[in-house]
Amino acid sequence: GALSRIEEIDPHVNAYLSVDVEDAQSQARRIDEQIARGKDPGPLAGIPISIKDNISTKGQPTTAASRILDGFTPAYNATAVQRLIDSGAVILGKTNLDEFGMGGSTEYSAFTETRNPWDLSRVPGGSSGGSAAAVATGMCMAALGTDTGGSIRQPASFCGITGFKPSYGRISRHGLLAYASSLDTIGPLCRSAEDAALLMQVMAGADGMDSTASKSPVPTFSAYLEGDLSGLRFGVVEESLASEVDTEVSNAVQNATDVLKSLGADVQTVSLPFLSHVTAAYYVIAYSEASANLARYDGVRYGTRAVDAQNSSDMYAQSRAAGFGGEVKRRLMAGTYALSSGYYDAYYLKAQRVRAALTNDIKKAFAAGFDALITPVAATPAFKLGEKLHDPVLMMLGDTFTIPANLSGLPAVSLPCGKTESNLPIGFQVIGEYMKDEVVLKIGHAYQ
Ligand code: GLN
Repeated sequence: GALSRIEEIDPHVNAYLSVDVEDAQSQARRIDEQIARGKDPGPLAGIPISIKDNISTKGQPTTAASRILDGFTPAYNATAVQRLIDSGAVILGKTNLDEFGMGGSTEYSAFTETRNPWDLSRVPGGSSGGSAAAVATGMCMAALGTDTGGSIRQPASFCGITGFKPSYGRISRHGLLAYASSLDTIGPLCRSAEDAALLMQVMAGADGMDSTASKSPVPTFSAYLEGDLSGLRFGVVEESLASEVDTEVSNAVQNATDVLKSLGADVQTVSLPFLSHVTAAYYVIAYSEASANLARYDGVRYGTRAVDAQNSSDMYAQSRAAGFGGEVKRRLMAGTYALSSGYYDAYYLKAQRVRAALTNDIKKAFAAGFDALITPVAATPAFKLGEKLHDPVLMMLGDTFTIPANLSGLPAVSLPCGKTESNLPIGFQVIGEYMKDEVVLKIGHAYQ
């Protein structure tokens, strides 16, 4: 089973930060007992699932891959996790990530370096790199990730699996350690769109613990999965197939669109003129929100506390200086700066205007009759460990195609669509209309 795969493979891949073997076994026994008593154990009975380590799990460590939360064990489950457990899933352990989700390679984890299972000298993507590597190697059937600017979709494409970022608000964020609250989403990384639909069915829906969780009814995802794509119109985003994209990637995406055509879809091109500005706008917004969200880690309530401070403000400063990694500090400083008086209009407000303009571009495309937009997930396949580590701007430019769905709150799936000559997976992205998550998964299932 998955536990023996972990024992065999994880020493090479480092996808997990913690695995609770005893707990997993006792969960599995509980399912067996339910079955023996004739009780329905739920739609996910016995399915081994891993959880990104920035999502709270009761009694299991939850660190967000940060030293500031070293040793922290939440007293409750995130709503998404609780709903998986209530449906019979067995939670195996917690997967590695870039500290607090801030990164695109999982190299910014404070604890360990996860490797791409297809080529151990390369990154698995990020920030949900541990979840992606664990699913790709069969060290679990599915995993939860979080996606603020692409952190489910990009690692899914680098590891050759399916990753689904739901509409903003479709899944409760209760129990997610916030990075940028207006962009954060929880979603599944798995082997197929069909599996993603199963998990969505269980996790989606209103939650009294998160006022931003949508109250709109959860559709029956499986009812949408069947059928071909006739009558659907897809717009391939022109700007996303420009010259900066690797030819192997753009060729694979072209082939995927040919497959969609053969399944009955009408495929045309569409323009998103604001695409070149989204990365700058995203980072201003994400850093700003992060600087507010991470203010809570002050050494008082959670995790690491400096021991030899002279007074309380010294204690906060020392705890934060020791607890946060370099990339997180850089972002918190930039975010605090962008929100400070005198600079707010120049940065934060301007970024919000770009966000609105992009959303307007996308709305126009949907209003013109497109049902979904198509782009590559990333301009390149998985890069080498260390290749972008000291060039944060280069790392950020890798997020251009995934960011729009976060800025506009839209559902989007990353689907494997081929390999490079050197056997690295390539993915393409389907972005759907707000709260039409089931349509996106239907397209994914038809393609697969
Ligand atoms: N790479 C992006 C960032 O660093 C996205 C991260 C994410 O989605 N959590 O912010």
